[in-house]
Amino acid sequence: MILRQLTSRGLFPQVHNRVRSSSSTPQGVLVKMARPSSDLAEFRKVFSKAKHIAILTGAGVSAESGVPTFRGAGGYWRKWQAQDLATPEAFSRNPSRVWEFYHYRREVMLTKSPNPAHLAIAECEARLSRQGRSVVVITQNIDELHRRAGSKHVLEIHGSLFKTRCVSCGTVTANHSSPICAALQGSGAPDPDTSDAKIPVENLPRCEDAGCAGLLRPDVVWFGETLDSDILTQVEQELEICDLCLVVGTSSIVYPAAMFAPQVAARGVPVAEFNMETTPATTRFTFHFHGPCGTTLPPALERHESEVI
Ligand SMILES: [Zn+2]
Repeated sequence: MILRQLTSRGLFPQVHNRVRSSSSTPQGVLVKMARPSSDLAEFRKVFSKAKHIAILTGAGVSAESGVPTFRGAGGYWRKWQAQDLATPEAFSRNPSRVWEFYHYRREVMLTKSPNPAHLAIAECEARLSRQGRSVVVITQNIDELHRRAGSKHVLEIHGSLFKTRCVSCGTVTANHSSPICAALQGSGAPDPDTSDAKIPVENLPRCEDAGCAGLLRPDVVWFGETLDSDILTQVEQELEICDLCLVVGTSSIVYPAAMFAPQVAARGVPVAEFNMETTPATTRFTFHFHGPCGTTLPPALERHESEVI
């Protein structure tokens, strides 16, 4: 298994190269591949027999709840995008600015709610667990909307906006306070002409462990950092036992689904994409359902007639 050798920094160049690739060979000869099915009845037959379902989710699921990503056109906080602020270097240069950015993102989440895709996944997990079947959500999203929807078995491969990690002692703590500390109250405005609050480092969020008081950082995976090996081990275990894999709200050639879905498909396990776009890699999978996942997912995951509990 090569997953743990991969870092976010190592992956993005591959992603960009692959996005530009097409289904044609360099010689311009079209590669003939089977198209995935969009037959919902066929998917439902497979779904009804699955015992261990792994659901990979990405930014598209959160986008349908109006969660900003601070990436792409228009995705700015002040003058910056996520890749300018979500780095260890940015944090060590200017922890006050980075904390303002994350404070703003935490506060924004108070105004957002899980959408029908989150709710359908959570309801499916609760229902199937009563039948001795399992559903795991493996998500790159850091907004906790899956948990708020009621999902219990969630692997957050990029961490959470609502966890902190002490840079001194390493303690990870859940934290849903609003604001996270008094000094950040009223700061974090996203407008480009807003001045930095320049909060002294001693007034930023600090570790509450006895005798530590170290600076806290968001417990999220920043650009250039490796994914948590404990989480990756759990992901590997889930992918090895799953007998159905869903890729929801993220393209299967884009990190992180690109790491996971092809290895599942290579084992002969059905993979179903629920996404707004198709890509050349879509042809490797069994099913593709086009459209907003808040629309396509609920009918796919609702109770099947063969379910008796
Ligand atoms: Zn500490």
